[in-house]
Amino acid sequence: MTSLTVLGATGSIGMSTLALVDEHPGRFQIMALTAHSRPDELAELALRYRPELTVIGDERHHRQLKERLAGQGLATAAGLDGLVAAAELPAERVVAGIVGIAGLAPTLAAVRRGAVVALANKECLVAAGDLFRAAVARHDARLLPVDSEHNALFQALVGSRDGDVERLTITASGGPFRTASLAEMRAAQPEQALRHPNWKMGAKITIDCATLINKGLELIEAHQLFGLPDERLDVLVHPQSVVHGMVHYRDGSVIAQLGCSDMRVPISYCLGHPERLASSVPRLDLAELATLTFAPPDMERFPALRIARACLRAGGAAPTILNAADEVAVAAFLDRRIGFLDIVAVIEEALSALDLGAPADLDAVFATDAAARRAALQAVAERTRRPVSELAP
Ligand code: NAD
Ligand code: MG
Repeated sequence: MTSLTVLGATGSIGMSTLALVDEHPGRFQIMALTAHSRPDELAELALRYRPELTVIGDERHHRQLKERLAGQGLATAAGLDGLVAAAELPAERVVAGIVGIAGLAPTLAAVRRGAVVALANKECLVAAGDLFRAAVARHDARLLPVDSEHNALFQALVGSRDGDVERLTITASGGPFRTASLAEMRAAQPEQALRHPNWKMGAKITIDCATLINKGLELIEAHQLFGLPDERLDVLVHPQSVVHGMVHYRDGSVIAQLGCSDMRVPISYCLGHPERLASSVPRLDLAELATLTFAPPDMERFPALRIARACLRAGGAAPTILNAADEVAVAAFLDRRIGFLDIVAVIEEALSALDLGAPADLDAVFATDAAARRAALQAVAERTRRPVSELAP
């Protein structure tokens, strides 16, 4: 039995994880489950998996969670302290499936007790990159990348030695606006941007795929995970989402990982590693697919990639600001306060408004994150002609 904690259990990553747990009765024991809101869904999961601790991030829903679990002998907690307590329980593996910077403190709590962390929350590596990696090394924790591209690279790197690798390529589906004109993108509504051609994911990352900022965040994530500089990390647009990542070796060999676009494939690798778990995911039928295509990204229509690369090169506070400003801009777009193309404009404004040094510790990461949120909210307010006070959450 492997003990497992799922942070963000009600989300897309969390539910895919639990679907895999269901496929392997007797193999995993759920130690803790967390969610932000939706206490009824979380309570249902708690009744089903009977974890030692069930945590709701938003304290306003704690009473409802407790009512739903009354008399069941299941412990509950709420708020950030509760999320951290869930991560601190001694589960052997922790799936970090919370979205956004909200995932940083709980994921770090798991890292600090030396857990094996299946990391979906790329924000940890973007917003707190060097500090997060240092914590992993210091506490002898282990990161297994869940993000499909990085999981692909991780698999394709098996057996490689120092100096073997020339370049790494991550693929991008191109999102819903891969072939759209700038005018169409300017007019795009949340419904259109949320219609991802290949993957079913949470709203934030789906919008990030439409702007391609997700691929920019993933370049930073790849840099942090595999240690290669910006100029040795490539992005290829591959609309079929079959090849997820490729390692280019110095002898001219390229090793790629392929699979259907289903997150249960990379999650399964992280749950079983180094063992491969049997899985019922759809099998890849290349003869039926017949054609796989690849193209360089269009940097004119998708400036987010250029901006993210600049942040990767600049280092310091830039990736933290990028991450925070994007969270604010995406939320504003989903609330119909700004247009689709404004997302990247808001990020650029936040980046140029702030002149901050590299965060020296985690408190500084959170301070930089907060400053970037204020700058991004200001940029949103200027676009909506409403005072910041009305927009702040
Ligand atoms: P989602 O929105 O579907 O789920 C997010 C989960 O986090 C939910 O359980 C939610 O309750 C919880 N959560 C949200 N805000 C929180 C807060 N403030 N405090 C505590 N918990 C909170 O998101 P998702 O698509 O599952 O993505 C989760 C993470 O995985 C993200 O970092 C994303 O970038 C990454 N990721 C997702 C996919 C995917 O296919 N969904 C692929 C690659 C990487
Ligand atoms: Mg990805």
